[in-house]
Amino acid sequence: MPSIVLKAHAVKSVLRRHPWIFSGAIAAVGGSPQIGETVDILDSNGLRYGRGAYSPHSQIRVRVWSFDPDADISADFFYSRLQLAIASRSLPPFAAETDACRLVNAESDGLPGIIVDRYRDYLVCQFLSAGADFWKDTLIAQLLRLAPCQGIYERSDVEVRDKEGLAQRRGVAFGSQPPDLVEFQEGPYRFLADIKAGHKTGFYLDQRDNRARVAEYAKGARVLNCFSYTGAFAIAAMQGGAAGVVNVDASSAALGLARRQAELNGIDPAKIQNVEGNVFAVLRALREEERRFDLVILDPPKFAESRRQLIKAGRGYKDINLLAFQLLRPGGVLVTFSCSGLVSRELFQKIVADAALDAGREVQILRWLSQASDHPTALNFPEGSYLKGLICHVR
Ligand code: SAH
Repeated sequence: MPSIVLKAHAVKSVLRRHPWIFSGAIAAVGGSPQIGETVDILDSNGLRYGRGAYSPHSQIRVRVWSFDPDADISADFFYSRLQLAIASRSLPPFAAETDACRLVNAESDGLPGIIVDRYRDYLVCQFLSAGADFWKDTLIAQLLRLAPCQGIYERSDVEVRDKEGLAQRRGVAFGSQPPDLVEFQEGPYRFLADIKAGHKTGFYLDQRDNRARVAEYAKGARVLNCFSYTGAFAIAAMQGGAAGVVNVDASSAALGLARRQAELNGIDPAKIQNVEGNVFAVLRALREEERRFDLVILDPPKFAESRRQLIKAGRGYKDINLLAFQLLRPGGVLVTFSCSGLVSRELFQKIVADAALDAGREVQILRWLSQASDHPTALNFPEGSYLKGLICHVR
């Protein structure tokens, strides 16, 4: 088997079971591993630490499959990893609450680069790394033994594949072509997932728990739902007794789906207003019109893709949070998120605090929010915790 030899300083990270080995941590490569092929992980004395997938084009040169140096990386190995991941989702709360759920959450489920989401009778997969792509057929075969379905759709049409030297890909990987929209239940809500062309695998499943929180704060509220996508938070707010919701998004297709989703949930269309536009400009216009809201939700896309973008991202987060505070009436509530993994909780709190200060508002944190628990984070993989949110009370 080909191998990589770790530099002395890099052994510690592997002993701590971090699944990523960067190019700078590698002293030498033995043999000529192909893209995605399994390699032994050695130190300069020839001691063995585990086995991982080799990715010659990525800065993350190896993703560790197993810290057992004798692990046989084979169909059986993937069967047992998938089984472990899927079994933990077949228990409540997921099985009881919803028929859409993340079954496999990549590194945090011991399956680096592999995402599997279930929407009713369809599975949607993403193979994001060289190793995941190398084992794709095996993974699909083992998945079919564990999670029967009508079809598996591949959504490997994401930019991270470029860094791995892999072409983007989307299409049916098994079974039948999914319908344009898959309808699913989440607690009291009916949702529509566009698994072939929607964001991520078709829906923001990671916000499930936070939809329930939004519903709790919505009673009687005039709600402003920024970066609404298909209006999932709007449905939750209306079911929680909101007086009305304004959705704001730049995508007309997303807002079209928001309309259909509201209909599906029996919501009076007069109570939902869909505004197509740039949130930064729309919030300024609402401020000029002296519109005021009781509940504002900010769920922007990832502003920081790299460390270089962190300062600019910080400015963006501060700007929208400042505008949101100005649009809230006293006693109002702001639910604000960042899904940039590079923005820590501490930094996010500081940005929101700066925004409140500039808006002249006195603000309390009522609650910290994070991604739903079918998107777990392995303790040894802090990078897996990307979604953070705050429920803030304006006094
Ligand atoms: N809150 C949504 C998910 C938001 S995803 C949910 O719970 O389902 C981010 C959304 O922001 C996308 O729909 C995208 O179209 C939109 N978006 C990105 N930049 C924007 C901008 N500057 N103004 C308005 N919408 C924007």
